Amino acid sequence: MNCYFDTHCHLDFKEFDEGRGALITKWKALGVKKFVVPATSYSALAGLEELADKYEGVYIGAGIHPFFVNEESLRDVDRLGAYLQCSPSVDLVALGEMGLDKFCGVDYELQKEVLSKQLRYAKVFNLPVILHCRKGYSDLLRLLDFHDVRSGVVHGFTGSYEIACEFMKRGFLIGLGGAVTWGNASKVRNMVSRLGIDSIVFETDSPDMSPEWLKGQCNTPESVIHVGKYVAELLGIEESTVAMKVYRNSCDLFGLETD
Ligand SMILES: [Zn+2]
Repeated sequence: MNCYFDTHCHLDFKEFDEGRGALITKWKALGVKKFVVPATSYSALAGLEELADKYEGVYIGAGIHPFFVNEESLRDVDRLGAYLQCSPSVDLVALGEMGLDKFCGVDYELQKEVLSKQLRYAKVFNLPVILHCRKGYSDLLRLLDFHDVRSGVVHGFTGSYEIACEFMKRGFLIGLGGAVTWGNASKVRNMVSRLGIDSIVFETDSPDMSPEWLKGQCNTPESVIHVGKYVAELLGIEESTVAMKVYRNSCDLFGLETD
């Protein structure tokens, strides 16, 4: 059976409250062996630690998502720094999600400040970052350069091949999920065709970013398998080859054994 790694899913969200444990068991039985659940706020962290303690194969990220940036966020990043200093969970494998979003209505200058401060910690603690970005790629690249952060993933990437290359040059991987299957996403498919599988990881962003065939419904980590099959077909490569390489990319990114 092929092994898959959902590198970005919000299993702490209420959509999964009912039967979370049974669902995780089911996804594992289907081949999704590992999951990274990124935090969206500082206050979400305690719940994520519990989740990772309880379920094997579930790892976490700590960070503040641009959607949830507010007046308290700069202080929250300080709290995050103190947490990293003293008592990070053994299942913490990244910082994020963090980033820039020009559509979310949150003060953009404040978003940049909060991101910048988080990137500084990523450098200090030598952790990969999980990046969220909509329409702020040049600012994001500039901040990554400024802080000399060279490891992580640009999650849910739907930019051009050229922008993907800018991230790859800096040591980043490209996170691919449901968007590659969307009817109107020929730009994304074109990018994937040119990128190949060396620098990609799979993700679902569950419960969001459903693939074309689940549009409007709750997305789950199971979709990562279908995204793998879809990409294999798109590139004309055996699914097993795609799955194995992308699984390795994901484990390497987060410093985990492939087992
Ligand atoms: Zn997310």
